[in-house]
Formats: sequence, C-alpha cells, structure tokens
Amino acid sequence: MRFDIMTLFPELVNNVLSESIIGRARQAGIIEINAHNIRDYSKDKHRRVDDTPYGGGMGMLMAAPPVYDCYCDIPKCESCRTVYMSPKGKPLTQKKVKELSGYDQIVILCGHYEGVDQRVLDLIIDEEISIGDYVLTGGEIPACIVVDAVSRLKEGVLSDSECFENESLSEGMLEYPQYTRPYEFMGEKVPMVLLGGNHKEIDKWRFKKALEMTKKQRPDLL
Ligand code: SAM
Repeated sequence: MRFDIMTLFPELVNNVLSESIIGRARQAGIIEINAHNIRDYSKDKHRRVDDTPYGGGMGMLMAAPPVYDCYCDIPKCESCRTVYMSPKGKPLTQKKVKELSGYDQIVILCGHYEGVDQRVLDLIIDEEISIGDYVLTGGEIPACIVVDAVSRLKEGVLSDSECFENESLSEGMLEYPQYTRPYEFMGEKVPMVLLGGNHKEIDKWRFKKALEMTKKQRPDLL
C-alpha cells in the first residue's frame, strides 16, 4: 500500500513514520510512504505558499496553486483515495480506518495556518477526516495517525492478524483487560480463570469483562 502525504513539513512526518512497527513495514516494502513538500511547488521567489484570506479575517491561508501542482505531480493508482485532514471532517473511527485500508493508495493533504483555499479542496479531495473535536496547528500529526492506523491492518505489518481481530473497537466493544508476568503485583493476582487453560471459560470471561469495560467507559458504543 502506498501513502502520499502533501505537507509543508515532510521531515516531521518522515521522522514519526520511520520508527518501530511502521518503520519496519516501510523497510520491508509492505508499505510505501512518500512525503511531498508543497513548498517545492511554490512559484513565489520567496517560496511562499500562504496568503491573506479574501474578505478579511485572522491568519493566513494555504494558496491553491502549489497544493494543486503538488497533487498533480503524484502518480496515482486506480484504487486511490485523497483525504484532507481537517477539524471540519468526519471523525476518524476504526470502521473508517478499515475502509481506507481497502485502497491501494491514500493521498493525504495536511493543512496549516488557517487552512486551505476551498477551491483546491473541491477539486482534489474525496473526503475530509478529523481526528477529534479539537484544533491542532497542522495536519501532519493527524496524517501520521491515519497512516499508522491503516498500515497496521495491512497483512505483514503486525506479526499476528489476531492482534487486531480481537482488539478494542474491532467488534464494537473495548478490549478485555490483559495480564502478564509476574503472577502477583502489589498484592494483586492474575484472575484464576486465565491460568487454567480452559479456553471456553477464558473466552466467556473475556467477553464479560469486555462488556463491563465498554459499559463503564464507552457506553455509546453499545
Ligand atoms: N481554521 C481551521 C478551522 O477552523 O477549521 C483550522 C485550521 S488548523 C489551525 C490548521 C490545520 O491543522 C488544518 O488545516 C488541518 O489540516 C489540521 N488540523 C487541525 N485540527 C485537526 C483535527 N482535529 N483533525 C484533523 N486535522 C486537523
């Protein structure tokens, strides 16, 4: 799978997406991530990419031409989705992550300043995605979140596909509590049912605990 990130800060996304599991998946060639510097497409002699908004108002806007030229320069697969990271977008959910993992390529536009000229968004964007109801300074961290969440669903990125099949939100519930050695920690012991090796009982216990946890922490999911 291929990700193309249009940004004013390619080093920021490259640094974040070069470590740990995602970094290894890149090295193994399971995913390809290309960060494109929108500034390289500025025709201004000072490489400016922003300007004041028509009609007045606070701050600066990313101008349409460099964003559009950057987008046009990216080779596209047939199965490609272009998203703009934006607090105005639909909230990112695990369902959306799964849907995005079905494409061969995702092109992501990261905004900055007060956002991006609407005309280029109307031309190139398939959907706007928000990572939550708060406002960040730029779309780079949201883009890294999308790349991370989508990549880990691709075969070979995680060592065992069960890692995500049973986890929080994959079945509309939160994950059950988990324990590892030592058996006793600060006087608290691992629940007996997990030690017996009776997988039917373990599954029953895990379902019950997942339900309890979801009711307590995210009743809206039920
Ligand atoms: N003026 C814009 C508004 O009110 O909708 C906010 C612009 S924000 C300061 C700059 C950029 O950060 C946005 O263009 C977007 O790419 C990114 N951004 C900020 N918050 C975000 C969020 N919750 N989800 C996704 N992207 C976000």
